[in-house]
Amino acid sequence: MHFLIPAAGSGSRMKAGKNKLLIDLEGESLIYWTLKAVFSASSTSWVGIIGQPKDRELLLNSAKRFAHKVQWIEGGDTRQESVFNGLNALPKDAKKVLIHDGARCLINPELIDQCASQLDINDAVILATKVTDTIKTVDDEGFIEGTPDRNYLWAAQTPQGFLVDRLKKAHRMAIEKNWKVTDDASLFEMLNWKVRIIEGNYSNIKITSPVDLKIAKLFVKDC
Ligand code: C5P
Repeated sequence: MHFLIPAAGSGSRMKAGKNKLLIDLEGESLIYWTLKAVFSASSTSWVGIIGQPKDRELLLNSAKRFAHKVQWIEGGDTRQESVFNGLNALPKDAKKVLIHDGARCLINPELIDQCASQLDINDAVILATKVTDTIKTVDDEGFIEGTPDRNYLWAAQTPQGFLVDRLKKAHRMAIEKNWKVTDDASLFEMLNWKVRIIEGNYSNIKITSPVDLKIAKLFVKDC
């Protein structure tokens, strides 16, 4: 299975003054933990990291153990652009791809393998969890508009897996129609293409703000 890891964000919400994937978590960088999990999955055969040129040395040095096994790909201004660059950098024979945010460093390798095997019978799959909070939609003035039925709400995570041809086509359509999305499954939804949900776990958090690091410290002991 081919794997793309978007790692080209600025991490502004983390206020670390550097790419958040360089932050230390129990003696290793976040990108180290992400790569450790990805390479522990038995389905993984090829891995590309998508990053900003200024971070290349830093990211690869912070995960030296894996540096020689990954392909470096230049990122874009948005996650969407970064993934598109990644898709164009895949080897010609890549039929399926799993995309996994570098910031989800606590992913369980078994769940990666589950996503990979579900791609044998689906064109698109994503890991997600049932929402436990009651979710409100809110207008621009800060007043509640409504409460969607929680039974139909899932929180999207990564990995998200796709047939490469299909996802490339979806990204090209997005550029043509100026669609802006924060994950790849959204493009499939906009095209009315089916995406299969695979139930993940709550520990696969995306490290976004300082509090997430505190939570990650507890979970990383199991990695
Ligand atoms: O900002 P957010 O945490 O939602 O980003 C999700 C992932 O996308 C992160 O791993 C980040 O490094 C990556 N990203 C990217 N290129 C960008 C912005 C974000 O690869 N321009």
